[in-house]
Amino acid sequence: MINIVIFGPPGAGKGTQSEKILEKFGLVHISTGDLFRANIKGETSLGLKAKSFMDKGELVPDSVTIDMLRDKVEENPKAQGFIFDGFPRTTPQADALDTLLKSLNTSISACLSLQVPEEELIARLLNRGKTSGRSDDADETVIKNRLAVYMRETSPLKEFYRSQNKLEEIHGVGTIDEIFGRLSDAVEKHA
Ligand code: AMP
Repeated sequence: MINIVIFGPPGAGKGTQSEKILEKFGLVHISTGDLFRANIKGETSLGLKAKSFMDKGELVPDSVTIDMLRDKVEENPKAQGFIFDGFPRTTPQADALDTLLKSLNTSISACLSLQVPEEELIARLLNRGKTSGRSDDADETVIKNRLAVYMRETSPLKEFYRSQNKLEEIHGVGTIDEIFGRLSDAVEKHA
């Protein structure tokens, strides 16, 4: 199995690049943000729990997020591998992911960390907010909080993967295809 974590701040291009990577490497894409948005749309109790956090740009509590992720992985017993997009975002989530994959006799192959300057991220998110229908992309205060939460709670995970020799830092500015080329090379290195 190839199991990839696509990592980076909001607006780094994780969703866009995940679509291209899963096509090339035959992986199942799990985006926790997309799963929460689908639950909000479907007015499920999980969606209801997540919404108040998402509207403020805060993280949904680990217990809720980890259970949802585990269910999604277990729904795909025949997967040749996964691409985790927007998960893990905290140390307990990274530990839970390792434990889950271990129970399936597999592990994370690589963490691909997209590096994009902050001004570019804000510009990309505000631009996406014009068409995405995502309220958390349309409000600069919420965007800034999401970036602060990333810096405080999520970016330390780079060390978690670096210490396992799994971190690949990828320059995330350029055309979609240029960035995809860099990511593909990094996946192949760890496949
Ligand atoms: P995203 O689509 O990845 O930008 O996620 C949108 C929002 O969903 C985030 O700002 C969080 O509120 C929530 N979210 C997504 N993934 C996670 C996660 N792994 N842990 C906690 N909250 C999450």
